[in-house]
Amino acid sequence: MTRHREPGRLLAVFAHPDDESFACGGTLAYYAKKGFRVTLVCATRGEAGEISDASLATRDNLAEVRERELRNAADALGVTELVLLDYRDSGMAGTPENGHPRAFVKAKPDDVVRELVGIVRRSRPHAVITFDPKGGYGHPDHIAAHNHTRAAFHAAADPEMFPGLGTPWRPARLFYSVFSRGMFEKMKQGLASLGEDVSEFDEWESSSILWEDEDIHAVIDVSGVADAKLKAWNCHQTQFGPDNPMRRVPEDIMSQIIGTETFVLGSPNPDNGARYDDLFDDLKLND
Ligand SMILES: [Zn+2]
Repeated sequence: MTRHREPGRLLAVFAHPDDESFACGGTLAYYAKKGFRVTLVCATRGEAGEISDASLATRDNLAEVRERELRNAADALGVTELVLLDYRDSGMAGTPENGHPRAFVKAKPDDVVRELVGIVRRSRPHAVITFDPKGGYGHPDHIAAHNHTRAAFHAAADPEMFPGLGTPWRPARLFYSVFSRGMFEKMKQGLASLGEDVSEFDEWESSSILWEDEDIHAVIDVSGVADAKLKAWNCHQTQFGPDNPMRRVPEDIMSQIIGTETFVLGSPNPDNGARYDDLFDDLKLND
């Protein structure tokens, strides 16, 4: 395993303000701190999200408030460049928000992929992060972000695709930020220790959203940037309010939850048993 001396470039593509911080805020902060160029793309402003406290936002200004929360979180993580794609949060599956004309799930794939290809060719990332094929816990916008990012990851390298959008660029690796079963158990244990109702977790455990620990390809130790990660979580007040039970999880369990982030390699096809403790292991970063 070789360690890189040159700073690399990382691109993360998510759907809503807060996805970046909760999914892999530590990884973004970890590489930003090493001097890597970190580009974050967010497809929507989270218009359909919750409002933890009515004094923070109204339905009418939630987009504006969440954009501000995202900008503050990106600063806390040390993100180099934040790009908002200007689609609308499509809401949870089966809600009327799904049908909004600007809903991200209704966007033409070609339009979104074109935007993302432009960003990949301009920012020339060595590694790209997005959701897994199930969209983490399954939000329709997360699944859309996965599909479009995966398509753009391949299209950006193809000179026949979107000519005129800049010089083709082939990012070396595509990673999916995933929930590991081990981490999930820790979260459940943390909440159960507070006497919280964790019955919802049982349903998730039996669903296919969790990745078995042996199927995970990268485990990143982000304990050294836990403060930046927690600061970013706290920027998302409308989603992570003072009453959120996660805030009361005992510190030893919380530091384990916060200190590790897990990824599955989406491309290239992983070698059997491939394990990284760094997303950029063995990559040539000098171009
Ligand atoms: Zn989301």
